[in-house]
Amino acid sequence: MGGIVGSDGLTDDDRDESKWLQSDKDCEGCGENIQYADECVLLRLVYPAPYNGEVTLLDALEEDGSYTAEPLLFCYECWDGYAEDLRTNLNDMFVTKKTSASPSPLRCSFCSKPLNWGDYCCYAAYGELGVSPRTQEATFTPSKYESVEHAELLCLDCLAWINEEHDENIWTHLWVEEGVLDGSEG
Ligand SMILES: [Zn+2]
Ligand SMILES: [Zn+2]
Repeated sequence: MGGIVGSDGLTDDDRDESKWLQSDKDCEGCGENIQYADECVLLRLVYPAPYNGEVTLLDALEEDGSYTAEPLLFCYECWDGYAEDLRTNLNDMFVTKKTSASPSPLRCSFCSKPLNWGDYCCYAAYGELGVSPRTQEATFTPSKYESVEHAELLCLDCLAWINEEHDENIWTHLWVEEGVLDGSEG
């Protein structure tokens, strides 16, 4: 009864290597299956917080302990496309906003906007999928240890730009719930 067989009816064709490589995770961008050992990106909603005199990134959680925004998995091509597009368009996009909140030492990796303590931002971790020996489910493993200072962080302005430009719906509930999208400026 064992073997790495998905619940999707894969049986006799399992010798086909490409099927062995299929995980149970699809890219949130293009919808393609993310295969085991493919480089991919896990996007988490986090916020900077001071910890023992240093800065750390904590997952954004609701009071009941659930994620404020479910972590999302993207294939490397999709995420790299967003990031590349963002970088090449930065000059036209942003006017630096002054903020009264106190900035943490971290900045958006793209537009360099200071990230304030407690402000939500996106953390894009690069890694690959492996099979959990215990549950046999696809599990994300970061490809290398990334220090907080060198993490790829994305402010919500940059995420909003990706959503608009690429017709995505990445965590759009954040704006609706927090009223950021209500009442356009001007
Ligand atoms: Zn994709
Ligand atoms: Zn930004």
